[in-house]
Amino acid sequence: MDIRIFGIQGDSIVDGPGIRMAVFTQGCIHNCEGCHNPESHDPNGGKVMTTDRIIELAAENPLYDGVTLTGGDPFYQPEACAVIAEGVKKLGLNVWTFTGYTYEQIINSGREDFMRLLKSSDVLVDGRFELDKRSLELRFKGSSNQRTIDVQASLAKGEPVLWEEKTYF
Ligand code: SF4
Repeated sequence: MDIRIFGIQGDSIVDGPGIRMAVFTQGCIHNCEGCHNPESHDPNGGKVMTTDRIIELAAENPLYDGVTLTGGDPFYQPEACAVIAEGVKKLGLNVWTFTGYTYEQIINSGREDFMRLLKSSDVLVDGRFELDKRSLELRFKGSSNQRTIDVQASLAKGEPVLWEEKTYF
């Protein structure tokens, strides 16, 4: 399956715990003031890759702990991002997904493709970037309204459960 991406960052240590491959997807409708990556908004920008190739790239580095889907907004291309998430999880890697939607918006969207991507993610960093809540003290997120959510625990409990760092160490 094709996916349009803004870029890929190997050996990232800022997009989640451990050493990660960060996939910056192309396309975002949230238009947050102060967005760090406005070039990623245009749905026709970036370049096209296959999901198979991205999974292969993740498999090529044995040091990776996980893959981060970010952007842009991965939920702009939820089906392709879910294919990547499912593929890299088969390699034993964890998946962090960043989105401008809230967890509740995804759950209540009624969209199967949104749910497929949510269910294939271990952690969801949710919510729009809010400039007046920006903080450099926050780990793995830009503004204090955003939450770092343990997706599988949240789905089991029926409400958002925050991720705790000990999960992967
Ligand atoms: S969701 Fe992320 S990429 Fe999209 S506008 Fe907001 S900060 Fe930028």
